[in-house]
Amino acid sequence: MRKTAAAHDSSASDEGSERPRQAVKLDDSEAYYRQMADNTPVMTWITDADGKCVYLNKQWYSYTGQSKKQALGIGWLDVVHPDDAQRSGRIFLNANNRHVSFSLEYRLRAKDGSYRWMLDSGLPRFNADGAYQGYVGSVIDINERKHFEQQLRQSEERFRFMAESMPQKIFTVRPDGVVDYFNPLWEQYTGITLQTLLHDQGSRQYIVHPDDLRAVTAVWQKAFRRHQPAEYEYRMRRHDGEYRWHIGRMNPLLGADGTISLWVGSISDVHDMRQATERRHELEIKTATLTEQRAQLMELNQAKDEFISLASHQLRTPATGVKQYIGMLLQGFAGELSDEQKIFLETAYESNERQINIVNDLLQVARIDAGKVTLRKRKTDLVRLVKNVMNEHSSQFQIRNQKLLLKLKSDKVKTPADADRIRMVLDNIIDNASKYTPNGRSVTISLSERQHDVAITISDEGIGIDAADTEKIFQKFSRLESPQVKGVEGSGLGLYWAKKIVDLHNGRISVRSKPGRGTAFTITLPH
Ligand code: ADP
Repeated sequence: MRKTAAAHDSSASDEGSERPRQAVKLDDSEAYYRQMADNTPVMTWITDADGKCVYLNKQWYSYTGQSKKQALGIGWLDVVHPDDAQRSGRIFLNANNRHVSFSLEYRLRAKDGSYRWMLDSGLPRFNADGAYQGYVGSVIDINERKHFEQQLRQSEERFRFMAESMPQKIFTVRPDGVVDYFNPLWEQYTGITLQTLLHDQGSRQYIVHPDDLRAVTAVWQKAFRRHQPAEYEYRMRRHDGEYRWHIGRMNPLLGADGTISLWVGSISDVHDMRQATERRHELEIKTATLTEQRAQLMELNQAKDEFISLASHQLRTPATGVKQYIGMLLQGFAGELSDEQKIFLETAYESNERQINIVNDLLQVARIDAGKVTLRKRKTDLVRLVKNVMNEHSSQFQIRNQKLLLKLKSDKVKTPADADRIRMVLDNIIDNASKYTPNGRSVTISLSERQHDVAITISDEGIGIDAADTEKIFQKFSRLESPQVKGVEGSGLGLYWAKKIVDLHNGRISVRSKPGRGTAFTITLPH
């Protein structure tokens, strides 16, 4: 074998055959080691004390494709990747100056031009006298490992990026229970850094609300014991001291052998959601109560309407009877009356008439509320209707020294309407105009016909209505609180009923008013 090795090594055979036996032995031994070095599966190298490469084994040449001439000295650096060459040369020279062992990683160019990662390790050589001789070293292919490391790093970076960009607080716990990672959101929320936590694992308790701590610890310990995922809701302390509701979830990560290698946890802020749910719940309860109260009120209202209707019916008959008998007395059916008796009976007659009017109003309202009013619509000339109503009111206006004026654009304004009921609506509004206007002033009625409707406006120069009250006056039994109103008789039912009638005609009733200056009611009825 040695012979073969010597034959392979050209430098050994160049030395000549007259050498002394000692030298031949030495050559033999060198050839032996050279052959061994050349046949090891890794690349090996030797440098001299000046740092120049004096030997590279066959693997180097066959991998790089370099010749001895190209590689020896510092030529080997030519096949080190340009991005790694400077660093590698520096590390090597540095070690060479200090005669210490070193190892460095670089990409080495193969003869096909591709690069692979290598680990180059060198050991300083000393002779028997301890004098420094250079280095001996090896170059191992670590490309696979490097690749794997890179993948690992990338996947770790991906995980970190994911964990750091999540809107939840993420953390990991070692199998021994020590927390070893928290994402920045956790730190931002709690104001506690991972460093502080690693130093003092107890500070974890500090961020859980004292009232929730026992439950949370129990859930966590159970999961830890049984190696099962866990979920718990608790209040978590924010850096400013405020506690917010969170859901914490823990999942064990099993290794290849089935044991837990890591616990991964996420904590989500559910405070607003929880409060919204609580508010919704409260609202639901309130709504249910209100619905119940509304139903009770509706029932009461109906009972009241029924009572009014019944009572009015019962009241009307005797009241009408009283009217008849007073009328008969006044007409002298029971003999001659003295003047004083006449005055008393006339007063009784007026009071009785007012009573009957109120009962009639109540009955009308009860009928409309019960949905018992059906309109009998006919083409009606509103000009004629208005003139009739004005005639009926003429004496009332005369007594009060008021003027009742009519403004017309045409002689006839026809529209489908229940004439009797619209007459009563106008009657009521004109009556009000007179009632709530001081003596001596005027009330003007105007009629106009438009493309889709007709409008009747009754304007007075009376006490007026506050803007805030214009809706109120159409409510049942609504009378405004002014002394001028209190001094005038009324039931507060006229406008309520009038609006209902106009609504049944699909019309509108509106009011414009200036307190102290007068009021204008406009009724519009569709064609
Ligand atoms: P009332 O029988 O009290 O007149 P109404 O329903 O007809 O009942 O009117 C309701 C309230 O509206 C009146 O009590 C009064 O306060 C107010 N009102 C109605 N018409 C006028 C008006 N022309 N000017 C001022 N206030 C009015």
